[in-house]
Amino acid sequence: MHSRNKEPFSSFLEYIAKVNYSKVLILTFSINIYLLTLITYYLFARNLAETRNIIYFSFYCLLFTVFLVSIAVFIRIHTFTPKQIKLFNYWVNGLCGFTMFWCLSYTIIDLHYNYPLPVLSFLTYCMVFMGGLILSPIFVSIVFTLAWVIFNLAGSRIIYGTFLSLHLFLTSVVYIGIGLIVMYTNYRIRRRDWEQTHILKKLNHELETAVRTDYLTGLGNRLAFDETFSFIKKECLSENMGLGLLFIDIDNFKTVNDKFGHQKGDEVLKYSSNLIKNLYPHAFRFGGEEFLILLKIANVDELMQISNNICQMVEKSLAPLVSDIDITVSIGVHYETPPINSTIYDFINYADIALYQAKKAGKNRAHLQYNHIK
Ligand code: GH3
Ligand code: MG
Ligand code: MG
Repeated sequence: MHSRNKEPFSSFLEYIAKVNYSKVLILTFSINIYLLTLITYYLFARNLAETRNIIYFSFYCLLFTVFLVSIAVFIRIHTFTPKQIKLFNYWVNGLCGFTMFWCLSYTIIDLHYNYPLPVLSFLTYCMVFMGGLILSPIFVSIVFTLAWVIFNLAGSRIIYGTFLSLHLFLTSVVYIGIGLIVMYTNYRIRRRDWEQTHILKKLNHELETAVRTDYLTGLGNRLAFDETFSFIKKECLSENMGLGLLFIDIDNFKTVNDKFGHQKGDEVLKYSSNLIKNLYPHAFRFGGEEFLILLKIANVDELMQISNNICQMVEKSLAPLVSDIDITVSIGVHYETPPINSTIYDFINYADIALYQAKKAGKNRAHLQYNHIK
């Protein structure tokens, strides 16, 4: 049992754009054939068409039969692979094109009675099956519209040829109309899809950033630190640079909370985070009142200089924020060049030991415990 995949369409235009193009062509073509049949019979009835046109018309009907069989096959088997659909589209395009050339050959034969019909038909047939497979029916329609204009300007008086030309013109208008509607609708659908993809990408990006950001301070969190560490470590190794880690802890922070409340404590955290964030791009909140800074640096003295500067800067900047308490920071420093053997945990552990020493030595200072220089 075949089961059709019913797609939800938000509008009729969207349905047209999603429906198989060859089906639209089959429908238009069938309507045209019926129109043509009616008019031909009318011409025969009034003795306006020549007898030999009956042969041409029979061939036309044969084509129509082939077409009907194609439709039947297409409707019965609707689980086509994309390649088969493509081939079917070629087939329909070819058939449409062929019929149009056939009509054109009528016109030409009518205009020049002396042309040998079989040769012309054969040529037409070859052209269509070489060109019609590649050319879209819209393009073919434009060519025929032009042909119609030219033949009429030439003053053709042959009824059947002129009638076919007129028919081709109407067909062209229909095809061009359908083509434009399909194109415009496709454009709208693609644009909507693009907009939706764009919004999704943006949201995804925001989500990725949020997952790596500490909510309170806006600094990178542990995940961001882990990722940045591996990234910077690789850079240091390839550039032959040293890697420094500063483990910063705010001194007596609990007193701020106890004396002024947690809101004030949060303010201090945000303020100090902003200070370091603006100066050092690779700054992270480790947890509580502890921060980490990663620095790619060639010289350990320079690293100690930076650490001492941070201590002084925080002391000065945070003084007006909380009266009565001196807010300072202690920094545990670890430095390795090149940082080959130590893992992220080694770095944190060594810097933590150094931090402990800085606290023990009286806080508001930076301390370097291990200095791995090879
Ligand atoms: P030390 O000088 O030895 O570092 O002492 P300290 O008071 O700074 O450190 P301690 O570990 O005793 O206290 C840290 C406090 O930080 C305890 C906790 O309530 C507070 N804290 C942790 N996270 C937050 C936060 O997000 N906001 C606020 N306001 N306080 C926090
Ligand atoms: Mg602490
Ligand atoms: Mg502390």
